[in-house]
Amino acid sequence: MSQKIPYDPNRYYTPEWRALRRMKLAAVNECEKCGFKHELNVHHKHYKTYGNEKMEDLKVLCKRCHNDFHHFGDGEKKTS
Ligand SMILES: [Zn+2]
Ligand SMILES: [Zn+2]
Repeated sequence: MSQKIPYDPNRYYTPEWRALRRMKLAAVNECEKCGFKHELNVHHKHYKTYGNEKMEDLKVLCKRCHNDFHHFGDGEKKTS
């Protein structure tokens, strides 16, 4: 039951993504799950608007919660 995600690593280096990410982190400066204020990542709630995201499509998670969310380490889901 793996969902295909249109993941493009190059996307993370575009000025658009960086600007959006910065805006999101300026608006929400703590993990939305645990409230931790360091090592914050911007996570996609869904990929329906992938490549054309809005602030509300994103979620701020600390590195730890983000890792939990994706279960990093299984080699499958390495998207943000
Ligand atoms: Zn957290
Ligand atoms: Zn994520």
